[in-house]
Amino acid sequence: MSKRRRIYEGKAKILYEGPEPGTLVQHFKDDATAFNAKKHEVIDGKGVLNNRISEYLFVRLGEIGIYTHFIKRLNMREQLIRELEIIPIEVVVRNIAAGSIAKRLGLEEGTPLPRSIVEFYFKEDKLDDPMVSEEHITAFGWAQPPELDEMTAMALRINDYMSGLFMGVGIRLVDFKVEFGRLLENDMIRIVLADEISPDSCRLWDVETDDKLDKDRFRRDMGGLVDAYKEVARRLGILLEGDPSSDKSGPRLVSSNED
Ligand code: UDP
Repeated sequence: MSKRRRIYEGKAKILYEGPEPGTLVQHFKDDATAFNAKKHEVIDGKGVLNNRISEYLFVRLGEIGIYTHFIKRLNMREQLIRELEIIPIEVVVRNIAAGSIAKRLGLEEGTPLPRSIVEFYFKEDKLDDPMVSEEHITAFGWAQPPELDEMTAMALRINDYMSGLFMGVGIRLVDFKVEFGRLLENDMIRIVLADEISPDSCRLWDVETDDKLDKDRFRRDMGGLVDAYKEVARRLGILLEGDPSSDKSGPRLVSSNED
């Protein structure tokens, strides 16, 4: 077996060359980082859960007409994806004040926002991903105005769909981050949802108790991160319940679409 070519290694994922041109393999690591990697830990089982949760959300979003890079899950930690030209912007959608907006604007965490708010951050580790405006994005050419409109519309549609999906299982979608890329299709450039959507990139609070079921458990040293991610997977119906092995040897996952 030949060694796969590593295209890129990030904080929580590795991208390998895919089996065919235009494809990549996205590998989910167990590494957790926060505050631009100043805080780092390996959390056994996180990658497996994020692979499965992100697959589930991308497939559901695909069903409502959101184009995504996801092709299929390959194994517990890896998925086959379409290779895109990544747009260096993180799009954050917020429904409830938490994290940086709470700090920046002096809002109490948990305050519902007057409406869903979209923010943009420039993906540049050296600068700690600064918040930028649409003016910055178009002036510096990181994305063209129509691309930015499309990303914003897609992010809001993703927010509407996921808010309902999570509310149905007793979870409030407080905020989340998404990334997009460009895919050349014939002569057209299509904006496609990329990266991942998982409890690493969302804030998810239990509706009844306000329990945090997301990466804030790590950021704020609360412990119980894997159990919280497992709970999200269980509620979404993608973790086999009552499996005695699931507590001992990491999560046992079931497939909804065997290929
Ligand atoms: N987020 C992310 N990656 C980042 C920054 C933020 O996935 O590099 C997510 C984060 O998990 C949260 C949302 O985007 O769901 C808003 O994050 P915020 O701006 O509050 O930053 P934080 O205080 O979490 O660093």
